[in-house]
Order: sequence, then structure tokens, then C-alpha cells
Amino acid sequence: MTENSYGFATDAIHAGQELDEVYGAVVPPLHFSTTYAPDGIGNLRRGYDYGRAGNPTRTSLQTQLAALEGGEHAFSFGSGLAAEDAIIRAVMRPGQRIVMGNDAYGGSYRLISRIHGDWGIANTPLDLSDLDRVANEMAAEDATLLWVETPSNPLMSITDIAALAKIAHENNALLLVDNTFASPYLQQPLSLGADIVVHSTTKYIGGHSDVVGGAVVTSDDELATKIGFQQFAVGAISGPLDAYLTTRGLKTLAVRMDRHCSNAQAIAEHLVDHPAVERVLYPGLPDHPGHELASKQMRGFGGMVSVQLVGGEQAARTVAEGTRLFVLAESLGGIESLMNYPHEMTHASVRGTELAVPENLLRLSVGIEDVNDLIADLDQALEGLAGRG
Ligand SMILES: *Cc1c(COP(=O)(O)O)cnc(C)c1O
Repeated sequence: MTENSYGFATDAIHAGQELDEVYGAVVPPLHFSTTYAPDGIGNLRRGYDYGRAGNPTRTSLQTQLAALEGGEHAFSFGSGLAAEDAIIRAVMRPGQRIVMGNDAYGGSYRLISRIHGDWGIANTPLDLSDLDRVANEMAAEDATLLWVETPSNPLMSITDIAALAKIAHENNALLLVDNTFASPYLQQPLSLGADIVVHSTTKYIGGHSDVVGGAVVTSDDELATKIGFQQFAVGAISGPLDAYLTTRGLKTLAVRMDRHCSNAQAIAEHLVDHPAVERVLYPGLPDHPGHELASKQMRGFGGMVSVQLVGGEQAARTVAEGTRLFVLAESLGGIESLMNYPHEMTHASVRGTELAVPENLLRLSVGIEDVNDLIADLDQALEGLAGRG
């Protein structure tokens, strides 16, 4: 599925997008049919029989996703969490334990702790930059899945994927990487040793804030069989229109990400010097603790910037509600800039837990608008706030 010599941007546009044989349509037609007539009993024409089991529009997206992550198999789901749920069901059994970052996406932690917790799956959140501690945890018999998100949401910490793959494999465990924040353009975890990549395609892959979806990519045939069976038997598939919109978004991922990265870098550099700002969390800043590692395992530093304000919670609320271009909304990764107050929005579900986020923190999803307009918008929202010293 993936062996070719094309570059990323070429694959993004061509992988899985064969010319339509009937009309020569350059864009593959969108298939809504839920059922497929065999050529006589038991004689499927192209392998399709029923829409939950397979759909050509979904296949087209899955081929594109596999090529871009450098994997052999991809599965497209109705949401990122549906994809995560399918993985957990496929690879975990009661009595086993997931070791995960202590700043993972709140919804992933909620799924693992409050849904799968009830079915006997334990979890241990910890600081994944502490490799000795991770190795100790993974040495336990019940630790069978290591769950990594890098860069993490919303603290932007960077985790060493290759080092964690080694630790997981030495302990007969699997390494999963949630690659939502980086996107396959900036980081390809399978090439660094990860066993499974998961995405919320709702974010950078779809890229236009108009379709919810998720994806799983792996090169392991056995894992793929298990995950494929989960998808078929449970049914959390993406519908044809959602798959089509995601494919359309994915075609422009490379050019979008380049702009997200350069805009985010400029904003991070601008905010570092702002008196109302206590700290900027962006791996593209040379003094970010993960800068060197990110330079090694990523092609660019991404479009997400988190900021802590001198004026605490009140200042964060004022800025979150005071921007004009940055829209106050959950989610990320779209072409338009979004502002999020994680403490009460995306990460409200982890308040009071080990995964709680600081009250003075804002998370910016930097879009691809003109960067001068974005900087001016942030400056006017920050004006008049308590400053440093
Ligand atoms: C949004 C998100 C998810 C969940 O995906 P949905 O498509 O909302 O179900 C998982 N991981 C990360 C890092 C996310 O940002």
C-alpha cells in the first residue's frame, strides 16, 4: 500500500485517489450506497458487500492515511475517541494496565479511566520524560500498553518516541502514539518504532473544522486484523461524506502545516517578550525543554502555542474573551485561529486529577491567517493586564 518513492505532498494528493474508470473523473466519486450487489451469490465484484464492512470512499481515505503515516494499514473511525476505544478493546484485557503521560488529552484520560476502568483496565499517568520511571512501570507484568502524546495537550511537552518504543518492546508491551498535534507531516511515529498511531482527524488532518473523525494506522498485520475486526463488529466507522471531507482536507496538509508552523513560531517569539506573559510553551523556542528532541523527531514545531499569564486566572479569562480574530472555542488544527481556556473548556474533565492544567494557561491553535493580524489581535487582548516586575 505504501511502497513508492513519492514525497509527502505528492502522496497526500495522489495516494488512494485513482482516476474514476467510468467517467474519468479526476476526483474519485463519493459512494453513498450501503450495499453492493455481488456478481452472483458469493461473488463480490470488488470486495465490497455492506457499508459497515467497507466503502470505497472510506478505503480511499484509509489508503491516503496509511501512505502519509508510512504504515501498512489504516482505519477511519467516526471520531478520534472511537478510534482510541477500538484500539483499547482490540489490544487490552481486564487486569492489564495502560501507562500514559500525565498531561494526555482529557478526553483520552476520561475514556481510559471512566469507561475502560469499569471493565478492569487500570491506568498509571506519569511524567513520560522520566525514562527511568517509565521503564520501572513498564517492567510490571500488567503494563501492556504505553500511551504517548507528543507534543502534549496543552502543556506542549515533547516525549522521546524512539526511547519509549525501546522501553515498551523490552517489556513485551506496545507503544501507541497519539499524533494529533503533530500530524503525519511533522512526525511519523511508526518510523521511530511506535506500534500504533492514533489521530483525531477532526484536527489538522481534516483541517477545516467541519468534520469529526479518527484514524488508526499500524504496520503490524496482526494488530491490523484485531482493530479491523473491532471496527467491523462494533461499527464506529466514518460515513462516506465525512471520509470524503477528510480526504479533501488531507490533500493540503503539507502546505497548511508549513504556514501553521511559521505563524506559531512568530507568535511564540512575540509573546515571549510581552510583559503580561509569564511563560510561552512552544517547542520551537530554543529554551523549551523539548526543543532539541523536537528538532530531531519532528519536521517542524507545529501550530499549537500555550501561554501562561502573569495575572493568573483572571488575566487568562480576560484574554480568552477579549480576542477578535482568535475565536473562543474548543478543538484545534483548523485553518482559523482558536483560543481555548483548558482549565474550564477542553480539560474541565481532568480538574482535580493528576492531569489538571494551570489556571493561568491559554492554548492557542494558530491558524493560517496573516500573522500580523493575529499578533495585533493578541496584543489588543493583552493590553492593560498586569505585567512582569
Ligand atoms: C481531539 C483529540 C482527541 C479526540 O478526538 P475526537 O475526534 O474529538 O474524538 C484525541 N487526542 C487528541 C490529542 C485530541 O486533540
